[in-house]
Amino acid sequence: MSSEHQLNLFGESNLQESNLDKKELIPTDAKIPISTGTYADMLELAQHCNQCHRCELGNTRINAVVGRGNPKAPIMVIGEAPGQNEDETGLPFVGRAGQLLEKILESVKLDTDKDVYIANINKCRPPNNRVPTNEEIEACKPYLLEQIRLVDPKIILLTGATAVKSIIGDKRGITKIRGTWMEWEGRLCMPIFHPSYLLRNPSREVGSPKWLMWQDVQTVRIKYDEMMG
Ligand code: URA
Repeated sequence: MSSEHQLNLFGESNLQESNLDKKELIPTDAKIPISTGTYADMLELAQHCNQCHRCELGNTRINAVVGRGNPKAPIMVIGEAPGQNEDETGLPFVGRAGQLLEKILESVKLDTDKDVYIANINKCRPPNNRVPTNEEIEACKPYLLEQIRLVDPKIILLTGATAVKSIIGDKRGITKIRGTWMEWEGRLCMPIFHPSYLLRNPSREVGSPKWLMWQDVQTVRIKYDEMMG
């Protein structure tokens, strides 16, 4: 080995590369990748989320909001980011939108303690509930990919455009694509309306967002029954 090569081994790029292998640095910097299989379980992942500063949202959170429900559920629901109630409790979808989501799932006899695991694209609340930036999404998404691997759901419901764009990369409006099955990484996904949108559009008339949601969850229930035999 030439002496120049030997000296290069002490270079900054090599130091950075060795940092990339250090699991404990994951919560400190979005540049540290989270490779598949990093976390043995949800608890370990949650510990990192609760000390995370991969983006600025870590500076303003009360609690990181990781997930709730059955961590081995066949159906996973993915929302956008926590709101105030979620930030305060550390649990996703517990405010008004969450209560509506619960009712929607209950309407087709899906139980959040048994059939469903609920998580978000971003684990920390964006100030004033603004939409998370692309940078914030990219910093946090590897945690979600690990959650999906750990839960290993058969069906993923993506609530709202941010969830669809972040996971599938489809930028079409949610009204266009809701209710359609899409395959992503060998899993069946369905974009659905975000429950907050339904709170703003309460009509139940045929063709209204609430009515369309009712059609979509029934489609999900039928597919779930088929898959579970
Ligand atoms: N909206 C979301 O997208 N997620 C939550 O956890 C709460 C509201």
